Amino acid sequence: QGAVFSDGSPRKTLVILGTGWGSISLLKNLDTTLYNVIVVSPRNYFLFTPLLPSTPVGTIELKSIVEPVRSITRRTPGEVVYYEAEALDVDPRTKTVKIKSVESGEHAYEMDLNYDYLVVGVGAQPTTFGIPGVFEHASFLKEIPDAQDIRTKIMNNIERAATLSPNDPERKRLLSFVVVGGGPTGVEFAAELRDYVDQDLSKWMPELSKEIKVVLCEALPNILNMFDKSLWKYAQDLLKEEKIDLRINTMVKSVDATQITTKCNDKLEELPYGVLVWATGNAPRDVSNSLMNKLEEQNSRRGLLINNKLQLLGAEDSIFAIGDCTFYPGLFPTAQVAHQEGEYLAHVFKKQHKIDQLSWQIQNVRDSSEIARLQTKKDKLNAQIKQFEYQHQGALAYIGSEKAIADLAIGESKYRLAGSWTFWFWKSSYLVMCLTFRNRVLVALDWLKVSVLGRDSSV
Ligand code: FAD
Ligand code: NAD
Repeated sequence: QGAVFSDGSPRKTLVILGTGWGSISLLKNLDTTLYNVIVVSPRNYFLFTPLLPSTPVGTIELKSIVEPVRSITRRTPGEVVYYEAEALDVDPRTKTVKIKSVESGEHAYEMDLNYDYLVVGVGAQPTTFGIPGVFEHASFLKEIPDAQDIRTKIMNNIERAATLSPNDPERKRLLSFVVVGGGPTGVEFAAELRDYVDQDLSKWMPELSKEIKVVLCEALPNILNMFDKSLWKYAQDLLKEEKIDLRINTMVKSVDATQITTKCNDKLEELPYGVLVWATGNAPRDVSNSLMNKLEEQNSRRGLLINNKLQLLGAEDSIFAIGDCTFYPGLFPTAQVAHQEGEYLAHVFKKQHKIDQLSWQIQNVRDSSEIARLQTKKDKLNAQIKQFEYQHQGALAYIGSEKAIADLAIGESKYRLAGSWTFWFWKSSYLVMCLTFRNRVLVALDWLKVSVLGRDSSV
């Protein structure tokens, strides 16, 4: 696309960082003919995170929940340039982003991109709260390689344990799978793991499968805090029934290669583990931290501060931030929020284009009455950019044994559902939410395959 439109007005450059929920929702709804659109992300695909906890145990195949960026940009009305690169640094003063290619070696590159508008949608990284040993020894569950890593560790431990005698304490340790964090990620993964052991592994290794222990540690007095009390209580009872060793009020204090130290009611305990999955929430990425350090208005350590139009405080005229990289009271780090923010920004950019065209016209006319007319039109358009309003539709979580919980909000009414029917509701909702028809078909086939043939037990 050219640098100018047919009437001679300049085409502004919009740089979008990230290919997650927020950025892809923006890209799918954006009129890409209006801007020079550049997408920068180290990940050349979109990942449907709600089904990620199902992947390490093979309920869902990883390929079924990803969609290549290229297949999304192919369908946009105007050209989109994509760099498989990481944003290292943003300079709000010169309006540049420094990027570094994912590829290393002779094809590696580093360059500065100029932008008129920048959308930061880089998500977050797992937090460890500085607890020693977590980075070195635990697995996270955030990205595709994390799910692969967890799967490899589980399968390898099972095979290694099978070679040891049943009385060997090392066998017990290898078969102890510990999940830290009773938020939805930790609960859904622990539930999937228990399902795999009870429904599939028990057929191939009946004795060994009985020795597998799944432990879930949560620092607070209950799990799944964002759900209504009746639902988290239901979930806690079910996890206990499923023989998940649920330890509430249990804070993990340190981690080493073979055991974690927990603190419960001032009592320290050492708990040996074979596989440790860490799911205690989010922390800002390095690029977000460095941007925060550049702007005086950015005085929170929890994320990029934005206003109610998703403009970055301190750089309101040119930088927007969406999704998990931001902090705004009442907006939680969920796919639902990021998705709606992306949609909202697509509308904002449509209006912004018209405003920019009017600014250009104002600069290029001499007649003062014409300038006044254009200015009034511009002011009207500016006033039409309403603030972002989040519509919460509810939360869903899988809790194992083909049961789920749902805390739904429809208009002013709230509905709380739990059990087997809710599991079918959970499944249908996620099918509807899948990004593309291709993802929908693949996910449905995975569920069908598992119900008929069981899960695959190879690495
Ligand atoms: P992300 O989707 O994380 O995307 C960030 C993007 O930025 C990625 O493409 C990444 O590669 C890219 N990036 C990273 N660093 C850079 C950089 N330096 N430069 C450029 N690009 C960069 N939410 C729900 O509402 N419902 C659910 O059921 C649900 N389930 C979840 C299950 C799991 C296991 C996890 C981990 C999260 C789940 N969430 C769920 C939360 C949801 O995934 C996040 O809130 C959502 O992904 C946030 O979207 P985002 O666009 O801000 O970030
Ligand atoms: P979270 O922040 O929701 O939960 C983390 C949990 O870890 C908290 O309950 C916290 O008390 C606990 N914790 C922290 N430090 C601990 C320690 N040292 N020892 C023991 N427990 C500790 O994190 P998450 O589950 O990764 O979710 C992140 C975001 O993604 C949330 O906003 C969540 O809503 C969203 N998400 C939603 C779904 C869903 O809707 N089904 C699924 C996954 C994630």
